[in-house]
Amino acid sequence: MLFTAVSKHDSKQCPLKTGEGVKMLKDMFSEENLKKNNINLSDAFISCPKEKHSTHEGVFIINAESEADVKKLFGTMDVEIKEVVPFKDIVKNF
Ligand SMILES: [Zn+2]
Repeated sequence: MLFTAVSKHDSKQCPLKTGEGVKMLKDMFSEENLKKNNINLSDAFISCPKEKHSTHEGVFIINAESEADVKKLFGTMDVEIKEVVPFKDIVKNF
């Protein structure tokens, strides 16, 4: 199953601004931790630190067996998870 996980935070609270935050993200998305949680991270895009003001957003594209596995990876992080399908699979039937 394919999922997107969208995480937002205020630019002032950006985890990339602190060593602790960077370590947390590095640990979370380490190959070892992804494997442990049965997560295949297809791709990820973030607006920080490019975006200086307002809200930062991270979009993670994940292959996993269940939404529960994706939830488990992000733990207490505020993240919106949705099951998605490739856009090209939908438009070909238009
Ligand atoms: Zn940020």
